[in-house]
Amino acid sequence: MSVQELTPPPSKNDDAIKRVGFVSLGCPKALVDSERILTQLRAEGYEIAGSYEDADTVIVNTCGFISPAVEESLSAIGEALDSTGRVIVTGCLGERPEAVQERHPKVYAITGSQDVDGVMNAIHTLIPPDTNPHTSLIPVPEAGIKLTPRHYSYLKIAEGCNHTCSFCIIPKLRGKQVSRDTRDLLAEAWRLVSGGCKELLVIAQDTSAYGVDIRHRATEFRGQEIPAHIVDLVRELADTGAWVRLHYIYPYPYVDKLVELMAEGKVVPYLDVPLQHASPKVLRRMRRPGSGKQLETIRRWRSICPELVIRSTFIVGFPGETEEDFQMLLDFLSAAELDRVGCFTYSEVEEADATHFEGLVPEDVKQERYERLMALQQEISERRMQRHIGQVIEVVIDDYNEEPGQLIGRSIWDAPDIDGNVFCVHGKLAETKLARKIKAGTIKIGDRVKVLVEDVDAYDIFGEVVAVLPWEPKVPQRRT
Ligand code: SF4
Repeated sequence: MSVQELTPPPSKNDDAIKRVGFVSLGCPKALVDSERILTQLRAEGYEIAGSYEDADTVIVNTCGFISPAVEESLSAIGEALDSTGRVIVTGCLGERPEAVQERHPKVYAITGSQDVDGVMNAIHTLIPPDTNPHTSLIPVPEAGIKLTPRHYSYLKIAEGCNHTCSFCIIPKLRGKQVSRDTRDLLAEAWRLVSGGCKELLVIAQDTSAYGVDIRHRATEFRGQEIPAHIVDLVRELADTGAWVRLHYIYPYPYVDKLVELMAEGKVVPYLDVPLQHASPKVLRRMRRPGSGKQLETIRRWRSICPELVIRSTFIVGFPGETEEDFQMLLDFLSAAELDRVGCFTYSEVEEADATHFEGLVPEDVKQERYERLMALQQEISERRMQRHIGQVIEVVIDDYNEEPGQLIGRSIWDAPDIDGNVFCVHGKLAETKLARKIKAGTIKIGDRVKVLVEDVDAYDIFGEVVAVLPWEPKVPQRRT
């Protein structure tokens, strides 16, 4: 941790209870770190402020992945400093303290990612913990504080990354991969599911490489030795009865086994596979793991599990990408017919190897390629979505609009925040009645329902609820 030689700025707040503001930026992996810090704060009796006005000190969990994310983090730090004057920075950008200090010399302390102890030490200096045993024992939920709704949770299975993609500084920021034991992960999953979580979103920098660093060491959970291997772990997670969704999978041969679990209905048929490009030359320069024979692999997965939906992300305008390389990417997309695609124009990241590569692609060319790719993909996604029309699909309700009386859910093929939604009405109820029914508890957030699909576009599904499904977890439920 880097603590500045600053006298702690005075607190503007002389309440007996000191409130901590929290800003969480970045990816789901950073969100899990934020949940850990918030859980520790609450365990020590700190209150979490809902606004800067109420906050005595603000913690900013930053992202340092690409230039726009760095800029967003730096401006969030500036805003927090302007409001409270007492700011602790943590997360990926905290691994480069000089970048933070240069712009914001008045930040009180800077810690790197996953450094809960470093953040707490800085908080203890700025806001000494409550030593009264009667007021400091604040109960926190057994599964910790979650920043996601109760019915889904991210499960981070490893930290860091063993790859060396040339555009990425995550391994420099977060270090080599460190996998968690299956015992800890399964205990966490059971706690979550017994507390009402119905969907586990499995994340890591490379989820498919889980356990490689600990040589797939087995640990005991409920009388069974479970190896730290993604296939064994996922099989056990599926046994909780929750939906299990896999993010950041690379196309290694044993991923076939995960797809088999999807075909058996044990795991949701969804794979988030960041392919980044399709031209072998660009992929080599990117130093991407597991990037050979992409099309063949996708076709094999689909033959194992025809219901499989594949999400991927791509970078256009990587240094040295020619029109021919880009055309290869478009041809790949046409042939692979991926269901969901995100695209970024390449942006330089200080300290990434690719920043020194020659053959920079002009911004207007990057933008033009981005638009061509997205236009092509939109047609493909829309065509892929058409097959759902007339199907009855399972949907989880995440939210609702009172006006015009719609339930907002997600199918097994949609991850929260990144994919589309299912907009559905409950039967042929009048819209006002629907709102009343929802409030009366007929359909609640987190419920699973069956929806008859009436229409689709490239991203979203529209339909009607035809049944409410019972929730049948295989883990005993805690009373709440
Ligand atoms: S797999 Fe590549 S892009 Fe992903 S975190 Fe590791 S080095 Fe970065």
